[in-house]
Amino acid sequence: MRRGAAALVATLAAALLATGCGGAAGDLLALEVSGGDEIAEPVKRLAGRLDLVFATRDWHPPDHASFETEGGPWPVHCVQGTHGADFHPAMEEVDLDAVVDVGRGRDDEGYSGFEKSDLAQILRDRDVDQVYVCGLATDYCVRASAIDACREGFDVTVVEDAVRGVEVNAGDSQRAFADMRKAGAKVASFDEVLAAAEAG
Ligand SMILES: [Zn+2]
Repeated sequence: MRRGAAALVATLAAALLATGCGGAAGDLLALEVSGGDEIAEPVKRLAGRLDLVFATRDWHPPDHASFETEGGPWPVHCVQGTHGADFHPAMEEVDLDAVVDVGRGRDDEGYSGFEKSDLAQILRDRDVDQVYVCGLATDYCVRASAIDACREGFDVTVVEDAVRGVEVNAGDSQRAFADMRKAGAKVASFDEVLAAAEAG
């Protein structure tokens, strides 16, 4: 039986990838993920091998409840229509089948690409059965998106070397991997996914 399509769901925004940026946009590039830039290359290569590529991004109103200015845990980031919400420059070379905006409402957490979005329907409409998840951050958007993808019934694989964590608390990424496995997600290396994509 022919398998359905395999899709890459990347949770990538410049504000999450950029580390230690100063200058005018510095206040928006505030969520520092150590090593975040290192995943750009694997994500680009995977995107070139899988059938479909979807990206999710934070797309927050200026008064989003997650911002420190509103009493939330995060610095201001990914405000709708600002440079901080742009994708990482590496993503310009990736053909995206769709971009899914999350965290659009003030109180929408926006960690999962499936939260108040059409992502599950978009994937089903394109006959996707296998979902590969990569991006930032392991312990937030990747974790939430992978778990929700499992709940939606997809065959989910997290690409372990194409994700990076924030690690607010040491061990958060490891706990996130455990949570994703418990939800039914597989964890595979970039090389393993590439080999499987070539074999399939
Ligand atoms: Zn956010």
